[in-house]
Amino acid sequence: MNPIITVHPLTNSPTAVWDQLSKTQKSTPLPIQNPSKPVEPGKVRIVCMSDTHSLTNCFKFDVPYGDILIHAGDFTHCGQECEVIKFNDWMKSLPHRYKIVICGNHELSFDMTSAEFHYARSRTKDEPVKDMRDLLTNCIYLEDSAVTLFGLKFYGSPWQPEHGGWAFNLSRGEQCLSKWHLIPDDTDILITHGPPLGQCDKLQENRRAGCVELLATVQKRVKPMYHVFGHIHEGYGMCTDGEVVYVNAATCNVNYMPKNLPIVFDVLLPEGQIKS
Ligand SMILES: [Zn+2]
Ligand SMILES: [Zn+2]
Repeated sequence: MNPIITVHPLTNSPTAVWDQLSKTQKSTPLPIQNPSKPVEPGKVRIVCMSDTHSLTNCFKFDVPYGDILIHAGDFTHCGQECEVIKFNDWMKSLPHRYKIVICGNHELSFDMTSAEFHYARSRTKDEPVKDMRDLLTNCIYLEDSAVTLFGLKFYGSPWQPEHGGWAFNLSRGEQCLSKWHLIPDDTDILITHGPPLGQCDKLQENRRAGCVELLATVQKRVKPMYHVFGHIHEGYGMCTDGEVVYVNAATCNVNYMPKNLPIVFDVLLPEGQIKS
């Protein structure tokens, strides 16, 4: 039977919760794989990025090749149509066979739950309201939804604990947990915009920003192989709790400079799957 995940009594104090949890659980940093190492036969290469914030033309690096590219949100600065079009054109220019994209809190024009407020922030008054999702024609867009590629299930969700009234913001606790309840049990690679608590979520001055209910959902119920996210630019890197590998792929650093390299990992193809 599935464990029932409940709201942590200190959900609104993530730093205090992690102080408690870190007495019994680990967050071990992992080295970042050299992307020029060839992918072994029988494996799929996944390339992860996030938080590019409309700065793809400022990259001082090439995006490494892989079978699947994941972008974990914040591909724009504020979700303007011209930014979405530019991002979609950039996606087209990349050679990866599949490209998976989710939104982040900066994609203001995508948040249908608060469209009046957020949409107004990214368009002029005379423009008709459009669904920005229609502009993403060169990628697989996930929003509380899944796609199966090479026999591996990817699930994507843009929601994160609220901070300053941006897109896909929810209150910590029950509201966030209601979205994590939607993640299928058989997810192999989970993509969320924000991190779980304690794993690549450290802010300056040792404060923590991750969601404790997301951590509990990942560790106790879903148990994916990989959990890919961004949002907390300072948390860029890879780590593990001994079971799940966590990837904070934030390309921009804390000063919104796109300096962090894409993170690459290889996954064994499930039995009976071939790449061609
Ligand atoms: Zn960001
Ligand atoms: Zn963000």
